[in-house]
Amino acid sequence: MMRRQKTQKKGELIVLSGPSGVGKSTVIAELLSDRRDIYFSVSYTTRAPRVGEADGVNYNFVTREEFERMIRDHELLEFAEYVGNYYGTSLKVIQEKLEKGIDVLLDIEVQGAAKVRDKCPDAVFIFIVPPSLEELSRRLYNRNTDSSEVITRRLEKARQECRESVRYDYLVVNDTVMNAAREIGSILEAERCRVKKRVHLVESIIGAPCAPSGE
Ligand code: 5GP
Repeated sequence: MMRRQKTQKKGELIVLSGPSGVGKSTVIAELLSDRRDIYFSVSYTTRAPRVGEADGVNYNFVTREEFERMIRDHELLEFAEYVGNYYGTSLKVIQEKLEKGIDVLLDIEVQGAAKVRDKCPDAVFIFIVPPSLEELSRRLYNRNTDSSEVITRRLEKARQECRESVRYDYLVVNDTVMNAAREIGSILEAERCRVKKRVHLVESIIGAPCAPSGE
């Protein structure tokens, strides 16, 4: 029998993007209620908390000075400026989780996702779209958290962001939260079954390395 591999399997990095108001947070909450093994990365932001948001839960809310210090000290895996505020992902936390074999989910916008694509090409990139821009506008107004000026900016931004979806691996339409969460769950299952992520299983079955013979 082959000896068990000593190196622990690394966690999967999952990047989820989609226009503001598309319902990512609700879809993520639904997904995580079923998949407690996934760690949701709590981002840092300079934006003010919305009603109902808690520090350390939805975001780590920091000042612009503190955020700029984190940039200078290379504490962020990625960051972006979005509608006038900074948003960023802690490098240390992500690294620790992935090293322990824990899957990590990032909810980040497209500029940040592009940086992650450069640094972590093996990550899984999923883009969520609304069924239509009219529906997105309705959701943003119903959320009742932004002024109509901010909503107009977010809708224009949404249009631009949707064009970026072609750079992602998977596209999910958030028609209903249950459907979107179920599809993301299926994507993650399929990703885990990729041959390159399961070579060790075959090797333990056949008791030999799997390198192709070239014949
Ligand atoms: P909101 O202000 O609506 O909570 O978020 C605005 C946008 O910032 C969303 O598209 C969200 O995905 C994105 N975002 C949240 N956290 C991060 C982060 O850490 N990095 C980047 N690049 N974007 C983020």
